[in-house]
Amino acid sequence: MTETTTVRQTRPITGDGDHERFAHYVRKGDIVRSNVEGVEVEALCGKRWIPNRDPSRYPICPTCKEIKSKLWGS
Ligand SMILES: [Zn+2]
Repeated sequence: MTETTTVRQTRPITGDGDHERFAHYVRKGDIVRSNVEGVEVEALCGKRWIPNRDPSRYPICPTCKEIKSKLWGS
């Protein structure tokens, strides 16, 4: 099953165990798959990691933010 990627299917997500304490934008489909299969997600900026489920309390990754606004406008 393939999900179409739109801005509405992204949300900030927090990486853990990382030097950069940023919330990254990740495709919703990636998050769902990660939750089910325990695989890494890939943020818009290319960062890959296993997400935890803590609420986002970090600033948005500036690279993700820039890419998102270029792709979809904001
Ligand atoms: Zn990012």
